[in-house]
Amino acid sequence: MTDPPRWPPDHPTDAALNDLLDGRLPLDSRTQVEAHLGGCARCQADYDALAAVVTLGARMRGLGTVPPDVWPQVAAATIHARAVRRHVLRSLRLPLVVGGLALAAASAWLGMRAERAMAARGGSVPTARPTIHDGMEVMEERRRRAKEKAEALAPARP
Ligand SMILES: [Zn+2]
Repeated sequence: MTDPPRWPPDHPTDAALNDLLDGRLPLDSRTQVEAHLGGCARCQADYDALAAVVTLGARMRGLGTVPPDVWPQVAAATIHARAVRRHVLRSLRLPLVVGGLALAAASAWLGMRAERAMAARGGSVPTARPTIHDGMEVMEERRRRAKEKAEALAPARP
């Protein structure tokens, strides 16, 4: 990065973006915010989203189907969502890590407890559970016995 920052590191506030959109920002601030938008994709995206909401609002208002007090609420919700997105992502990082560790610990603990419970109930922890393979061995054994029985009953083949 050789370019000096075009705007102080601070991003324009949501209110400033709103005022710019509404044409209510004083000229000097407007110049600064517009310069920032030119160099900051994130703020530009926020501004575009805000503009899309306002445009949609104007269009819908033209239809006369939406009460006028709805759109300030939509705009507020959009700004709120922007703030929430920023803060939630930041604040979720630690709980997610802690939650993952807690989950791992909990499942390990539950596994240990289950083994103890089985040991208390049966006197010993079953080390090997019946598997499909065991079932197949049983079936194979039965088939072998049935075949032997059939061969013993049937006359010997030539
Ligand atoms: Zn920015």
